[in-house]
Amino acid sequence: MSAAQPAQRLEFDAAAVRGDFPILQQAVNGRQLVYLDNAATSQKPSAVIDAVDDYYRSCNANVHRAAHALSGRATEAFEAARRTLADFINSPAAEEVIWVRGTTEGINLVAASWGRANIGSGDKIIVTQLEHHANIVPWQLLAQQQGAELLVVPITASGELDLQVLQTLLDKRVKLVAVGHASNALGTLNPVADIVAMAHAVGAKVLVDGAQAAPHWPVDVQALGCDFYAFSAHKMFGPTGIGVLWGRRELLDAMPPYQSGGEMIERVSFSGTTFNALPYKFEAGTPNIAGAIGMAAAVKYLQSLDRAAALEHESALLEYTLQQAAALGAIERIGAPAQAASIFSFNIAGAHPADVGTLLDQQGVAVRAGHHCAQPLMEYLHIPGTVRASFSIYNTFEEVDLLFAALEKVKGLLL
Ligand code: PLP
Repeated sequence: MSAAQPAQRLEFDAAAVRGDFPILQQAVNGRQLVYLDNAATSQKPSAVIDAVDDYYRSCNANVHRAAHALSGRATEAFEAARRTLADFINSPAAEEVIWVRGTTEGINLVAASWGRANIGSGDKIIVTQLEHHANIVPWQLLAQQQGAELLVVPITASGELDLQVLQTLLDKRVKLVAVGHASNALGTLNPVADIVAMAHAVGAKVLVDGAQAAPHWPVDVQALGCDFYAFSAHKMFGPTGIGVLWGRRELLDAMPPYQSGGEMIERVSFSGTTFNALPYKFEAGTPNIAGAIGMAAAVKYLQSLDRAAALEHESALLEYTLQQAAALGAIERIGAPAQAASIFSFNIAGAHPADVGTLLDQQGVAVRAGHHCAQPLMEYLHIPGTVRASFSIYNTFEEVDLLFAALEKVKGLLL
């Protein structure tokens, strides 16, 4: 390792954290796995795997329905998980925490339910150039259906939102601003509290896509002041197929159901149906009980760490990566936001990102290459995609060295 490595490396025991993640102890293509695709999905600690396993071994039953012991136990664990998630984001109430399949479903729920009820012809919806498709397409469809207009906040050369332009776009016809808390493609951490204040000043609501922020920063929905916040368990050490939509109670109360069927009803008759109270009004059908329990276990795992030190470690990894990239040369970093998640998006001049990704995989280094579900951003930047190395708490400086040793070979092969 080079002397350039920052001092913070000794303050966070990533090696000990690594021991909590069984999947990392394996070879890929004959090399020790270097997993740098954490923005796509993180790996799972034993605490989460065990919580899901234990649920199925000891208390699997359907929730809220049967009058038997197992169902009582499952319901208790499921609702305790909701309270854990409510505390995690400082929700004023557990009823404001809706279980969904993930960020995408959370955003679709708001678009279909709140959107159709509150956005009409001539209204405006604002998204940003940085958004993931999950925070673009539902609003595009809604705008088409309702005769509304979709406006886009551009970015600066460093990959940050241009808030001056946002200010000029905001007027009384804007009903919603949908913004990512952090960009999955460039890492940019957006000033959500400021954006909320600007949007609320014209009476617009704000939905925050928290998929890339929740794994790294503490989320406080009250401090942010937003109206909706969606995030996925699988990017923050939890299972796939589960996530949370948080919404303000008065908005959720007034919203029509999203999906219908069991659990979300109060009473059904052929003369009409009445709906259950929050949060169940939005939870039709048997929920992902094991997923919710696993997500709560992931939150508890995160809370068992020194989160400030974990974040510092991730930032130090990014800093070290930038130094190594400068030393290697021929690497163009895409975006350089001042405040960012530990995401390094780059291209090698003259090489297609997909080729770089494949050659890195052959050397045991897992990165993502492509448009990262942010095609409008790639179009804006006039590039087909990027190679993205995204770091998590269990990554080490040695792994950054392995990434650059592999990139050196890639350079030799492609340039
Ligand atoms: N928003 C952002 C910023 C993301 O990075 C992702 C996933 O990559 C999503 C939304 C969609 O998340 P999910 O697929 O878990 O619904």
